[in-house]
Amino acid sequence: MSAFIRFPVRRGAAMTEHAVVIAGAGPTGLMLAGELALAGIDVVIVERRASQDLDGSRAGGLHSRTIEVLDQRGIADRFLSAGQVHPFVGYAGTFLDISDFPTRHNYILALWQSLFEPILAGWVGELGVPILREREVVGFAQDDTGVDVQVSDDSSLRAEYLVGCDGGRSLVRKVAGIDFPGWDPTASYLIAQVEMDEEPEIGMRPEGGGIGPVNREKGGGPYGVVLLEKQVEHTSAPTLQYLGEALVAAYGSDFGVHSPTWISRFTDMTRQAASYREGRVMLAGDAAHVHGPQGGQGLNTGVQDAVNLGWKLAQVVNKTSPDTLLDTYHTERHPVGARVLHNTMAQVALARIDERSQALRATMLELLSMDEPRRRMAGMISGLDIHYDLGEGHPLLGRRMPDLDLRTADGAIRMFALLHDARPVLLNLGEPGGFEISPWATRVRLVDAKHDGVWGLPVLGEIAAPPAVLIRPDGHVAWIGDLTDPELPRALATWFGKGTPAR
Ligand SMILES: Cc1cc2nc3c(=O)[nH]c(=O)nc-3n(C[C@H](O)[C@H](O)[C@H](O)COP(=O)(O)OP(=O)(O)OC[C@H]3O[C@@H](n4cnc5c(N)ncnc54)[C@H](O)[C@@H]3O)c2cc1C
Repeated sequence: MSAFIRFPVRRGAAMTEHAVVIAGAGPTGLMLAGELALAGIDVVIVERRASQDLDGSRAGGLHSRTIEVLDQRGIADRFLSAGQVHPFVGYAGTFLDISDFPTRHNYILALWQSLFEPILAGWVGELGVPILREREVVGFAQDDTGVDVQVSDDSSLRAEYLVGCDGGRSLVRKVAGIDFPGWDPTASYLIAQVEMDEEPEIGMRPEGGGIGPVNREKGGGPYGVVLLEKQVEHTSAPTLQYLGEALVAAYGSDFGVHSPTWISRFTDMTRQAASYREGRVMLAGDAAHVHGPQGGQGLNTGVQDAVNLGWKLAQVVNKTSPDTLLDTYHTERHPVGARVLHNTMAQVALARIDERSQALRATMLELLSMDEPRRRMAGMISGLDIHYDLGEGHPLLGRRMPDLDLRTADGAIRMFALLHDARPVLLNLGEPGGFEISPWATRVRLVDAKHDGVWGLPVLGEIAAPPAVLIRPDGHVAWIGDLTDPELPRALATWFGKGTPAR
């Protein structure tokens, strides 16, 4: 196994040992830490920031699939009670209705990242994960048995695995030598939170960006402003005067802008890590993919990366599964990230203000007024259409398990409630009995249940009710069939390790 190092790791110095070290306590690192802690893994986060405070509101909301994964852990209500729901997703400056999608969360949740992170950190705190704050990962070296992680306070941590959740400029990615190919920015946007003396024009602009109240329920100031800039390259940080001039150029007025909380800029730089894994080092979230904020997908994709990786890493650390299981993290999540990059680039192109791009946009909007194109695009942006390639078969294979109302011998239960402890479930909807679960009984929960309603999937519509379903901790379906199917023991062994022979 190759070793990568940026700073020399002090040999002989006392090292604190953990199974997993996570660099970065942003949305991705926090979610991953929660998933690992639920599985009983000894995990620590190293975080540069002194608290969860952000220098801006950043991401504006959660998409359906992210709310669903939080619901799978029983914590969605914490976020829902802090935000506002709207029955649509944004795409290329228009809104696509998703109220007909068969999910309990057929909406976006408007909730600023600055509010989202403290709630998520609260959950991670309850699970007892230590966060080493005001410290940075500054280098590491990996060998056959683990990773020595160098921390900025001159201490070292020894871990079996290191996960870089350290954002778009990821040091972990650079030190691991993982390429980050993609596209340089073509557009730069000013972003600010300000007060205004006059009531501004609220709403999106055709070229992207716009003005809106920070508190969307209450309205009024302070306002969030996003404005396309004339140039992509800049040598200095934006000032209030510069923002005022940009407002005049866009609206003919600066609306008496004053008292900025912050002024910053972002671009549509689009890049993706060539590999999400290099030996004992993994990347997740912005460390693995960066793109324009169109469609509001960055935070959501990172949280879902974490939910895909968490249970796999836990099983490898627990020695339930071989470490080849970690390769499926790249195989499954890299195409999802690539699709997000692709759709944000398309949205950037559709927002261009030259006549031909506008003609293309008008054509696209016409198509999106039809049901099938709307469903497809909205399924993609909401994350509800994610399909891991687990082979041919029933349409549910590789897709998310819907949150069905189930009847069991112990009473009524929602499907997602069965996933709260992040353990796999073998859901038998046929007659009870017929399969010996005992070799996997410590890992996989067999539930006999009935569902009376139809089976519906977003985008695909109604599907045939399966006789039994094997559901991974991330909520994706790993096998479908009859309990007598000889493939079932193989699927259990592939995903959840070899069975322990009954004594
Ligand atoms: C203007 C704007 C609007 C956006 N809107 C949306 C939206 O509506 N929806 C959406 O889903 N996404 C949106 N995003 C994207 C979203 O903010 C990011 O995708 C998200 O923050 C990624 O989370 P992360 O945890 O992967 O990385 P980050 O949030 O970047 O977190 C990385 C963490 O690692 C820490 N760190 C960095 N280096 C080190 C180190 N060496 N050692 C220790 N700690 C380190 C940082 O302090 C930080 O806490 C937007 C982004 C911007 C800029």
